[in-house]
Amino acid sequence: MTALGDILKARIAATGPITLAEYMATCLQHPQFGYYATRDPFGAAGDFTTAPEISQMFGEVLGLCLAQCWLDQGSPAPFALAELGPGRGTLMADILRATRNVPGFHGAAQVVLVETSPTLRAAQAQRLAGCTPVWVDTVDDLPNLPLFLIANEFFDALPIDQFQRGETGWHMRLVGLSDDALQFGRSPALPAEAIDPRFADDPPGSIVEASPALPAIAATLGQRIAARGGVALVIDYGGWRSKGDTLQAVRRHQPDHPLAHPGEADLTAHVDFEALARATGLPRSGLTDQGALLNRLGIAHRAERLAAGLTGDRLETHRAALHRLTDPREMGSLFKAIAFHAPGTPAPPGFDPSHA
Ligand code: SAH
Repeated sequence: MTALGDILKARIAATGPITLAEYMATCLQHPQFGYYATRDPFGAAGDFTTAPEISQMFGEVLGLCLAQCWLDQGSPAPFALAELGPGRGTLMADILRATRNVPGFHGAAQVVLVETSPTLRAAQAQRLAGCTPVWVDTVDDLPNLPLFLIANEFFDALPIDQFQRGETGWHMRLVGLSDDALQFGRSPALPAEAIDPRFADDPPGSIVEASPALPAIAATLGQRIAARGGVALVIDYGGWRSKGDTLQAVRRHQPDHPLAHPGEADLTAHVDFEALARATGLPRSGLTDQGALLNRLGIAHRAERLAAGLTGDRLETHRAALHRLTDPREMGSLFKAIAFHAPGTPAPPGFDPSHA
């Protein structure tokens, strides 16, 4: 068992089983032994790869999308060019490179990174040294400016709780101890108000998930954008309404049991985009497949331009990256995108229209 496993077991032995969200928050964010606090998880040597790490084209076309939104809203200056959970800083670096010829954009932009991990802040500082970014711990500390924001694989890293409907009511999934090992258990039946009314009629056996932190984060973004203008582009894996057990542990590119290596495996869950949309309270796009979005934003054209300078293995890798990002059997439809925008402003380009 890991050092964090011993800490968790001692806590549970002292005060009883903990919620899944508390377990996930400790595993991911513990200041000393948490997953994001202790490592750079990306790439071949890490645990997983994300779209910006697969190809620069991802950030380039999304950067131009953000710049178009900024132009469409009258080029406000100054504004916050913000990212939630920037990882290695690759996405923001690609956004900045792609937009450097957009007149006035860089001059007006204050780059703001919402990041809790000191290890990843250091990686971002190195990557983005030229643009003097500002770091904040939470969305509450974003500057009071028009906000043009992107978040890729941020919301899936937020802790979730799981609820299962039994014969007599809903129960929460808990993490407890059995023979000195971490083990899943369940709470006594909960009062009906504990369950989101969207799920009230789900039959016995159903499992639903909710991120306790997501509504407040989304509401803050919504208030900022409604008050000062801007957009939020969110890309993640998930669905309009997330049903079933989607908790996933990944360690060294392999699936892992979520309780097996606390603090040493990445833990994620599908994003419930309906919950996100409701909490922002902003006009929005439809939920759009990543592949469709990237294609509409011109990724194929950009890929051809880049391919012209490549040969051999590098050309093969480049072509494979385009396929991986856009093909429906790869990330193209597993990952979804949604755009929120200030009331009275045009919808961001490339996204499906909203039918709501
Ligand atoms: N967007 C990046 C990284 C995704 S991994 C990419 O696409 O490559 C998740 C990122 O969110 C990491 O940078 C992690 O440290 C950060 N993160 C996770 N939970 C967070 C929280 N509650 N507040 C701020 N940052 C968080």
